[in-house]
Amino acid sequence: MSARLTTEQIERYSRQIMVPDLGGKAQLRLCEARVLVIGAGGLGSPAAFYLAAAGIGTLGIVDSDNVELSNLQRQILHATADIGRQKVDSAKATLTELNPDVQVITHPVRFGHDNAEEIASNYQFIVDGSDNFDTKFLVNDTAIRLGIAFSHAGIVRLQGQTMTVIPGKSACYRCLFREPPPLEEILSCQAAGILGAVAGTLGTIQATEAVKYLAGFEEGLLTDRLLVYDAKNMKFREVEVMRDPECPSCAAAKTTRL
Ligand SMILES: [Zn+2]
Repeated sequence: MSARLTTEQIERYSRQIMVPDLGGKAQLRLCEARVLVIGAGGLGSPAAFYLAAAGIGTLGIVDSDNVELSNLQRQILHATADIGRQKVDSAKATLTELNPDVQVITHPVRFGHDNAEEIASNYQFIVDGSDNFDTKFLVNDTAIRLGIAFSHAGIVRLQGQTMTVIPGKSACYRCLFREPPPLEEILSCQAAGILGAVAGTLGTIQATEAVKYLAGFEEGLLTDRLLVYDAKNMKFREVEVMRDPECPSCAAAKTTRL
């Protein structure tokens, strides 16, 4: 990777290079950064879109599903003509069209206990756009073990929540929720529905956190607090999250570099 931005890159990214908190140095870091997006769905779509637009050097996308008609209301990486196609392939095509500078690596598998460490260890930041509790806990535990910062998010109906986790420094998802909820709660959640724009808001916040982390923001990340979005009443509120010294996942975590 070259240590300088090309003339074309300077023009493409000029509006964010102008931002005093970012600048050319941060842009170089973004161009060399590696981010893993888990799920090319409602959260992963806007997150990956903005990360590719921002010039993240390498974007990994994990998803084992094919595009379905009912996905298109919120999973904006995919178009009508993509129905039936692997989501990772559709995502790669869309992101490459937007920004050919970005290397998109596809992982057409389910992120599971057998492959989580192997996949995640190649990345600096994880955007968790998964839609189930098992994967959310697995992402948390894997990221904590490997010392990789990540953004958690969950969405249902007209609500969302998100939090950023810096292993060894801030509270993790398991400090907040020790175990997945009971099965009946999970099932009711899956059948609950979601407004596409709510997923868009949360996924966009996740992309923002990834960019801030990779650009080297020491403060101001969404750590030790859960941001809760109530779209019905258009309200954002924060819930303080304390690190649990007995947390089975992060109590012994090694400190992550920032
Ligand atoms: Zn924890």
